[in-house]
Amino acid sequence: MSLISLIIPCYNEEKALPLFYEEADRVLSGMDVDCEMLFVNDGSSDGTLDVLKELAEKDPRVVYLSFARNFGKESAMYAGFCNARGDYVAVLDADLQDPPSLLPEMLSILETGEYDSVATRRVDRKGEPPVRSWFARKFYKLINRHSDADIVDGARDFRLMKREMVDAILAMGEYNRFSKGIYGWVGFKTYWMPFENVERVAGETKWSFWGLFKYAIDGIISFTLAPLNIASIIGVIMTGLSFIALLFIIIRRLAFGDPVAGWASLVCIVVFIGGVQLAVLGIMGQYLAKTYMETKKRPHYIVAESNRSDVEKIR
Ligand code: UDP
Ligand code: MG
Repeated sequence: MSLISLIIPCYNEEKALPLFYEEADRVLSGMDVDCEMLFVNDGSSDGTLDVLKELAEKDPRVVYLSFARNFGKESAMYAGFCNARGDYVAVLDADLQDPPSLLPEMLSILETGEYDSVATRRVDRKGEPPVRSWFARKFYKLINRHSDADIVDGARDFRLMKREMVDAILAMGEYNRFSKGIYGWVGFKTYWMPFENVERVAGETKWSFWGLFKYAIDGIISFTLAPLNIASIIGVIMTGLSFIALLFIIIRRLAFGDPVAGWASLVCIVVFIGGVQLAVLGIMGQYLAKTYMETKKRPHYIVAESNRSDVEKIR
């Protein structure tokens, strides 16, 4: 019988976890597969770890990895991938926004052999502030135009993948991880399953608007060089314009003997160019900062505690 691993990143999910477990257990009991549930406690400050210990005690399929601090969802997913043993691997949120009830259908699609992964996308953005939706749409448009990774609008991290794809994801050992891009970059045949947006069962979302904005910038910097190209293009255009302006001034001086008037316009131009230079430096700095973090080769995560003895504790 094949083994399916569920990876569940949990950050302060003590209220949602029992509901998640109950639902996952119900769904899995109707499926003809062996299963392990890998809960990754991402440095929660509430009773998440205690809930996980309780679950692990009564169900041998429950495995938990508890991080030494909060490393973020990306690191939690990575730790899950590193330690999952399944022939099939799924990533789900703990808050039931990624309904486990879709798993049987997802698995049957993979079992036909036609696809390597089944991914989910929301068909609507109901219950989301309009500003957020607007930014999200713009983000997907921008990143798809400029990167190799094919990133679908409304894609969630919820997926079921074959082993081959998980191994490919693990081969991408970058420190700055942007999963939506990584999934798209490794390729493989993906079936997109639409589903209606579901509200969280309990607890609160960890995403502020500002957090999402920074995440989007991270994604763009990790997967495209477009900002650098734009910076170069601005430089070339500005050089061209100043050359034309210079010609204009010289010719006017020679032909009409006009002295150049106006320090105000000069100041504006100096300030404008200074601003553009700073902006471009900032863009370069973003890439440099990412490169700096990559070269340090710090671990993605540190596990402080687990109920499985042979987990990779630091990677
Ligand atoms: N999460 C995590 N570490 C974090 C933030 C979130 O492991 O630093 C987990 C969280 O417990 C949940 C999933 O990532 O299972 C998605 O988080 P959330 O529901 O807050 O995001 P949303 O669904 O609103 O995008
Ligand atoms: Mg959620």
